[in-house]
Amino acid sequence: MPIMMRALATTLLVATTTAVAVAQSIDLSTCSMVDLTHAYGPSTVFWPTSPTRFELEKLAYGKTEGGFFYAANSLRTPEHGGTHLDAPIHFFEGGQTTEQVPLERLIAPAVVIDVTGRAAADRDYRATADDVLAFEKTHGRIEKGTIVLLRTGWSRHWPNAKAYLGDDTPGDASKLSFPSFGADAARLLVEDRGVAAIGIDTASIDYGRSTDFQVHRIVAAKNVPGLENLTNLDRLPPRGALVIALPMKIEGGSGGPLRAVALVPGRSR
Ligand SMILES: [Zn+2]
Repeated sequence: MPIMMRALATTLLVATTTAVAVAQSIDLSTCSMVDLTHAYGPSTVFWPTSPTRFELEKLAYGKTEGGFFYAANSLRTPEHGGTHLDAPIHFFEGGQTTEQVPLERLIAPAVVIDVTGRAAADRDYRATADDVLAFEKTHGRIEKGTIVLLRTGWSRHWPNAKAYLGDDTPGDASKLSFPSFGADAARLLVEDRGVAAIGIDTASIDYGRSTDFQVHRIVAAKNVPGLENLTNLDRLPPRGALVIALPMKIEGGSGGPLRAVALVPGRSR
């Protein structure tokens, strides 16, 4: 918590009001808000083996007998699809379930490591520990409690499942191809830097060709959640944003649909 507060103080204007109680608040007039979330709908991209997709069923829409308008839907969705959280239990028996993931891991200062050039040259690119170290050389050491976002540029393919996943054969996940974190980068971030969470603008924190899901296993074993299918990472600075990534609080969940946003200091837009 103290680390997070320190980082906040350096990145966001903290206004102090006096009087009876001394309260600190973030001055939103000095921040822009960036939505890191794809909308859920018929075109939402799911893993090819997912037996179900996002479904919104209309229960009511229109004028009631009382003369007023009323709308309500029922929704059904896999936990893992669209912009979503991977809770640690997704790949670690005994790991935290969705509702148990501490808020400190979901609301935290973020850094954005940009590998768009490498990913454009190699769609199976895996970010390395050297990529993390190169980032730190320019932007400073990644502090404990940071949310580390990897920007591959892949959200430009959304929602074209074939371009985004590399293959869109229903029921077959054996030919997927997209970039993500590599195992040595994940180990450095999670085991050495003690990051709060890692996130990615592709479908998985493991690259598409992975069959052993090493990154998922490395981070889950440390109770570090993953944020997948993020978007708009190009609108975040390398450091200085505050990310708020809150999933639906599913009891016993292995993940869940996520509304991820960022507060970015400065009114650049
Ligand atoms: Zn997932």
